[in-house]
Amino acid sequence: MSYTLPEFLAHAIALEHEAAERYLELADMMESYRNDEVSALFRDMVRFSQMHRDEIKARAGSIELPKLRSWQYRWSAPPEVGGEEAFDATLDAYQALKYARENEVRAMEYYSSVGQSSNDPEVKRLAAEFAAEETEHVEAIDKWLERTPRPSAPWASDPGPLPGEKKS
Ligand code: ZN
Repeated sequence: MSYTLPEFLAHAIALEHEAAERYLELADMMESYRNDEVSALFRDMVRFSQMHRDEIKARAGSIELPKLRSWQYRWSAPPEVGGEEAFDATLDAYQALKYARENEVRAMEYYSSVGQSSNDPEVKRLAAEFAAEETEHVEAIDKWLERTPRPSAPWASDPGPLPGEKKS
């Protein structure tokens, strides 16, 4: 779909707001596990999302934004939470990072598809810029995933070490 600038700004604000809320929950969850490092990462992500949301709001200025019907900006539930109910899964650090990464990838893909499909040059420009920011978020999470131990798989379908991962 080709977004108008107000439509795009409304979605981007909602997406960043949603991200901030989810990161806050993840940060609190990690804090309750005494995983201060990953909690701190998620708190950084809360701040980045809020800053980004506020920048987009400032960019919107006095432009009147539409009310949204799309739920596209919502984070997908973690795999073990079915349906649309509230986010209340208990994830370990590795799963939480994986979950965050999936949603960052969705945001990145969302922004780049908007950028590609829009006819509005300003939407194209902003969407490309936002997609690049989301790419940075994915990369930041990837770095953390590299140093976060995977939970031991309780069932026999453990796919084994990742390529490049050393067997201990
Ligand atoms: Zn992001």
